[in-house]
Formats: sequence, C-alpha cells, structure tokens
Amino acid sequence: MYDPLRTRYVLSCPVRGETAVTLSAFRRLERLPGAAHPAVYAISFACACGDEHPGLVAHDDLDWAPLGLGAGSFFDLMTDLPGDAGDQLGEVAASRIRAGDWPWSFFCYAEDRPKPVFPSSFSLLAPGSIGSLVGVAVTCPDCESRSINLVSHAHIDLPFHNDAQVGVVEHVFEADAERAIEEFQVELHSGAFDTRRLAL
Ligand SMILES: [Zn+2]
Ligand SMILES: [Zn+2]
Repeated sequence: MYDPLRTRYVLSCPVRGETAVTLSAFRRLERLPGAAHPAVYAISFACACGDEHPGLVAHDDLDWAPLGLGAGSFFDLMTDLPGDAGDQLGEVAASRIRAGDWPWSFFCYAEDRPKPVFPSSFSLLAPGSIGSLVGVAVTCPDCESRSINLVSHAHIDLPFHNDAQVGVVEHVFEADAERAIEEFQVELHSGAFDTRRLAL
C-alpha cells in the first residue's frame, strides 16, 4: 500500500518486518493475470536491508496514489471543518493532466517521440551505470513496444517532475520476459545511450 505522508510504498521485509520504499526502488513489475478489480501487480523491490523482495501492489496504488488520490481526510484549519485531502489533491492532479502536464512520461524509441505514461507501464528498473540515474524499461501504451530510458530518481518518484532530457537506448527490446531482463541489464551497462528531449 501507498503512504501519502511519506510518499512511499509500505511493503514487507522478512528481516525488518515493514519497510517503506520509493517507486524507483522497484525492480520488476508484472501484472498478474485475471480480470481483478483493481488489477494487481507482482513486484520486486530493492530493500534497505540489501536484499530484493517480492510484493503485491494494486493498480490504484501504482498509478493514482502518488498523485494524492485516496490520501484520506484531514482537518481544514481555514474552515475548521474536516476535509478530504485526497479529493483536493486529486482535483489539482486532474486539472494539470487536462492542461497537458503529465505526471510521468517516457521516450518511445520505436515511435521516436515522448509520450505520457503511468507507472503500471514500467516493467523493469535498475540503477544505471552513469551517476545516480535509473534505467527503466517502459511498455508503450500505444504501440506496445518496449523502450529503455535512463532518467533521474525524481523523474520516477515525483509526479509532474519530468526530466528535460532522458537517455534512450537505441533499441526496441524483446517482449519475452526472461530474455528482456537479461537484455535490459546488458543494454543498461553498454553505455549506448542517446539523449532525447522529453518535452511533450
Ligand atoms: Zn529487506
Ligand atoms: Zn510507442
């Protein structure tokens, strides 16, 4: 589940019990088969204990909770009435999206252009070989090809923070899950990145 106050996902660790991680600490995401409402994603994440653990995250928690939707109630000091932070934050997010400001974006290599996206389209994440960047494999919601982008942590973790430029691997990679993981690691450390503007 997502903790809006800490802006982190609360997941369980066999060593520490409970741990809270940012989205960029996720390593793999895979939608579980079945028409569950909401859909559930099997994920693995890099834990502060040094290990990688599996977890389950609901679709809403992945895509909507970081935008403040479902943040719950608070007490409004201006009106002395209980308010709903989730509703107000949700409205702010919705109006920004309507204005063309997207919470997340990526560069689709196959289509050669930047695109809006939600975290449920991320499939693999890993620390990049350059500085503190993060490699992310994204399945394009439109053409369904997979691209690898090299982005900042903030690009992943902070909704509406989009890097002005991202690294793009000049390669459309396999949809096959096992091969994809291997290929992702190879491409990520090949250093063969091109820089693209991410202005939508
Ligand atoms: Zn752990
Ligand atoms: Zn595409």
